[in-house]
Parts: sequence; structure tokens; C-alpha cells
Amino acid sequence: MEGRKNCFDPSKTPKFRVELHVHLDGAIRPETLWELSQRKGLFLHGSQEALCRACITECPSDLPTFLKPIAEYLPLVVGDAEAIERIAFEFCEDAALQHILYAEVRYSPHLMASEHFSPSQVVESVNRGLERGQRTFSIGVRSILCSIRGRPGWSREVVQLCKEYRDRGVVAMDIAGDTQGVVDTSQEDVEAFQLAYQLGIHRTVHAGEDGPADQVKFALQQLHAERIGHGYRVVEDEAIYRRCLDSRVHLEACPHSSLLTGAVTDRGMKHPIVRYAEDGANFSINRDDPTLIQKTLGDDYALLRDMGLTDVHFARANFNAARSAFLPHEEKSVLLEKLKQIYGVEDTTQ
Ligand SMILES: [Zn+2]
Repeated sequence: MEGRKNCFDPSKTPKFRVELHVHLDGAIRPETLWELSQRKGLFLHGSQEALCRACITECPSDLPTFLKPIAEYLPLVVGDAEAIERIAFEFCEDAALQHILYAEVRYSPHLMASEHFSPSQVVESVNRGLERGQRTFSIGVRSILCSIRGRPGWSREVVQLCKEYRDRGVVAMDIAGDTQGVVDTSQEDVEAFQLAYQLGIHRTVHAGEDGPADQVKFALQQLHAERIGHGYRVVEDEAIYRRCLDSRVHLEACPHSSLLTGAVTDRGMKHPIVRYAEDGANFSINRDDPTLIQKTLGDDYALLRDMGLTDVHFARANFNAARSAFLPHEEKSVLLEKLKQIYGVEDTTQ
């Protein structure tokens, strides 16, 4: 990890980035996985390096293959309050070291629950880790609870958990998982998102990643999505893309992830994130699943710089992220004020 030191001094770590799309279960330190694997006798590999290699997929892959290692190592934390609190706390430290001022981290409470450990106990454990991490590392972190495509029975419970914990840092719901096909969102999931909308719970949706542009349209129209996770393939449909640009729909872009998942395959074509930047789209720059990618947020910025993005684009992406954060109005104003102090007044010219 970029710049991790044994002694953390929050006052010496400049923070100037806002990250909106990162999965807690995809952001576990390899050394933590290694330690838990040794203690629990699960996900065993000969060395920490071998464990790291087992987490990363050959590029380019596809989304199910890319995500497979999470299912393999997640039993290390499932149903374990201490381990779940630890990964949430360590998330805060890693984010602070990567110059993140404010992050929204997401996870599925159901995927870390067990027969004897409920989804709400998962949320309690994550909250303890995030609350302690925020105090220790002087960083702002809120959480988003994910429902999972193909598990429609979970989505209504996710809405209830969002409602129950809205005063303890849970700010929105999401739907994640394999996104192939347009009709993969069940009626239960649609109804859960409609209920979230009625209850004033914010909504983001993974769409247009490995699925078609129509999926973005579906997310906006049927799921009341305020933000779109990835969304790259929206550029394939000019009308839907134009709608996103005109209505300032926020696109949560994840540069290295977009290549590793095979979501963006044609290297000869302009990368959709470059289009977002050139067209003045409302987008942010995010890590997605750093355990599976083993790159820092700084590496993601560097990749985009290689593609032609500039400091002006990066500043604008951070202002856009702050404006699109699922924070109450007053907290958002404070965050934007901090960004103004760091970047100066935002340059909105192309
Ligand atoms: Zn994601």
C-alpha cells in the first residue's frame, strides 16, 4: 500500500481525495488475510506473496472470475465480529494514507453474516471499526449497504438496515454482483429500491459495467438510482449517455478495475473514463476492490494521467464526488469548503 508506515500521524498525512466506490470486502489488507488464514486454517497459501497472487486475476478477465477470490477468502471474516471490526478500522487507515479526505465504503451485510451472526451484527461491527478509524485517522467515512443480484430475498432487509442505521453512518443502498443482462434485477429488488426512494434512503446501482447501456437506463428509471457504479457501457448509447450528462448523473469510475474485469476491452477505443472527462461528465475516481487489484488510488490517478487526464480533471472529479456524496447538506458543504481550501476555486472550463 502506498506510503503505509508503522507510525501513523494524521496531522502529517495530507488528504485531498474523495472516494465513493470501494468495497470493504474487496479492500482487506493481504497481511490481514494472511494472519487470519494462518489462525483459522482457511484460504491457506504457502506465503503472503502466494496469497496475494491468489487474489489477483490475470488481465483481462471477466467480472465473475475477477470477483471469485472474494468468495474464497471471505469465510475468514464471516460471522467474526472482531475480524469485521478490524477490516473496517484498517480500511480507514489505508484510506487516510492514500490521501482520502472522505470515503463511502460499501458491503453486503448478508455476505459477512452467518447462522449465528446476523446482518445487523455485521453492520454493528463495521460501524465500530469505522467510528474508531475515523477518530484515529482524522478521516470521514460513511457506508453503503449492498443487496446482491440473484439474492432478491436480501434487498428488503437491506432497506430496513439502511433505515435502522441511518444515524450511525449508513447513507445509502446499492445492488452489486454480476451485472450481465438487463432483466437480471428481480421484482423484489425493484420494489426494495422503490421503498428506499420513498423512505429517503439514497441509491446507487452497479450498472453498465459488463452489462449493456440499457441497464443504466433501467437503474435510473426503475431503481431511482442517483449514482451509477461504473457505467462505462453507457457511452455505447448516445441517447442514454446524453441523459446522464444533461441530468448530471454521477458515474463512479474505477480505472484499474475497468480493465481487470474485462468491462472495457477494446484498447484501441477511447476509454469511457476519458470520454467522461472530455465531455465534462459528473464522475469520480475510485479503487473498487483493491485487494483484487493491488493498486492504490494514486495508481488509478496515474493510469488516467497516462490516458491524458490532467490535474484540472482530477480536481473536478473530486469536487464532483463531494457534490454527489450521500451526505446531509451541511456536512457536504463542509466537505466542499475543505476542497476549496485545498484546490482553490474549482476550474469548470473544459
Ligand atoms: Zn463495485
